[in-house]
Amino acid sequence: MGISEKGSPEAPTKILIALMKPVERDILLNIKTLIEKEFNVQIFFKLEREYVPISAFDWKNLSYNSSLVLEKLEQRTLDLNSFFSLIIFLGRLKTSNTNINLKSRIIFVNFTEERKLLKDVGISVGKYLGLDDCNEECMMNPKSSRIELCKKCIMKLKKRDSDINYK
Ligand SMILES: [Zn+2]
Repeated sequence: MGISEKGSPEAPTKILIALMKPVERDILLNIKTLIEKEFNVQIFFKLEREYVPISAFDWKNLSYNSSLVLEKLEQRTLDLNSFFSLIIFLGRLKTSNTNINLKSRIIFVNFTEERKLLKDVGISVGKYLGLDDCNEECMMNPKSSRIELCKKCIMKLKKRDSDINYK
């Protein structure tokens, strides 16, 4: 589950998941297996805990400033740019605003329950790959408990892959 440099032409998008809070190994393995299968990406983990610098803390509101958190995390991962297309931080922070995952290359998933992580990470990866919220029984529908993509979303992903491959 560590960082390795193995790559395959079938899974060109490499995603790093970095933990800011311990997550059970079974849940991580589940995330890796399912997300790799559904989205045709490659998942790597950084299991040593990553910390948010105290300078990102907003002492007036006694919570973290989301944009500062992202900025700090981004600075820290600049040298990983060439290897990972996307870096997802998993953590639990009290933040001043909830829209913390809008930047494209770095995503912060603020989670409260481990069992919801798979869904949260799945939706983040899907959005990064160009999928929108979906109304079907689908991974991309936050209201549905389904953890697989629906046919519509699979077609969208396939179309995107072939557009990229033949450009
Ligand atoms: Zn869908």
